[in-house]
Amino acid sequence: MTGRVHNFNPGPAALPLPVLEQVQCDLLDFAGTGMSILEMSHRSPTYEHIHDQTIADLRALLGGTEEHALLFMGGGAQMQFALVALNLLLPGAYADYLVTGVWSETALEEARKIGDARVLWSSATTVHTRIPMPGEFHVNPEAAYLHYTSNNTIVGTQYTYVPVSRDVPLVCDMSSDLLSRPIDLSQHSLIYAGAQKNLGPAGVTVAIIRRDLLERCRPDLPSTMSYVHMAAHNSLLNTPPVFAIYIVGLVAQHLLAQGGLAAAAARNREKAALLYATLDSSAGFYRGWAQPESRSGMNVTFRLPTPELETRFVVESTHAGLIGLAGHRTVGGIRASLYNAVSMEAVRALVEFMEDFQQRYA
Ligand code: PMP
Repeated sequence: MTGRVHNFNPGPAALPLPVLEQVQCDLLDFAGTGMSILEMSHRSPTYEHIHDQTIADLRALLGGTEEHALLFMGGGAQMQFALVALNLLLPGAYADYLVTGVWSETALEEARKIGDARVLWSSATTVHTRIPMPGEFHVNPEAAYLHYTSNNTIVGTQYTYVPVSRDVPLVCDMSSDLLSRPIDLSQHSLIYAGAQKNLGPAGVTVAIIRRDLLERCRPDLPSTMSYVHMAAHNSLLNTPPVFAIYIVGLVAQHLLAQGGLAAAAARNREKAALLYATLDSSAGFYRGWAQPESRSGMNVTFRLPTPELETRFVVESTHAGLIGLAGHRTVGGIRASLYNAVSMEAVRALVEFMEDFQQRYA
């Protein structure tokens, strides 16, 4: 396939080529129906099969059971920031937040528009270069829930363990690492993720909620904002984002065929290890942003000696067909996102470019 670049975009991001080819093949006539999925009723048996199979395949990947409802919702992860609090932060209650970057700060701010959301631990004093180590915070047993962000997409830090929440429901924004590694669903009461990193295209948000938590949710919310109503209708309360869900289904099948999440995690570890080794052996030319024990396997963030060199790096890498390497506008620097669909070959091309760039400008 010619003309495809090495895509390090942070999201929307690279999708597996076989998935895109399947989409192309299905587009005009899905499975002999004479129409595309874009044109099909969401109440048709053909779509309902896609919907249910996608849920089943995601469950198979995640090792989940019927104990958790798997929902498809709209509004992106930021809508979930509000919905978590609307559903779970009842009058008189409070929630605890672990704040480790821009997205958990935003999640906290959105929850504060609805109720009493508190900072249990924050990395703001170390400009979000690290996540807390086990034992650095203690969850309050009265909290309505404990919220954390498993991978901090902008600063490039990631939890390598599940925070202990005891009997307090654990809620996680996994937007940028869901499906990149195995997770222990049983420790989480609610997980949500915008699809546009490892799962598929933008437009659908996956929420995985333990059924016993549904019983604690506020019952009187408008239906499309209510986890209880969405679960009761198998996410077919209103018209779901059918095309996005179909692509999530193809991505899930592709991942299953490639050995599931343990195999994906092994591939992802190898890619990140190569890139971090390049930073660490650059004699300080490339400086990793995150503290080593908190480094993200998904978003590798680093600085160069000057902002001018960083600008030059982005311009030259783009010319070399390495796309999406500029850091987030709020933090600058360089960020390489290494989601599932980014190949080892792409990372090798990046490392080669970095070594050459260093030789020319160090
Ligand atoms: N949480 C995390 C961890 C993210 O990376 C992002 C987007 N990059 C968001 C939340 C916001 O997602 P959305 O644009 O789907 O609202």
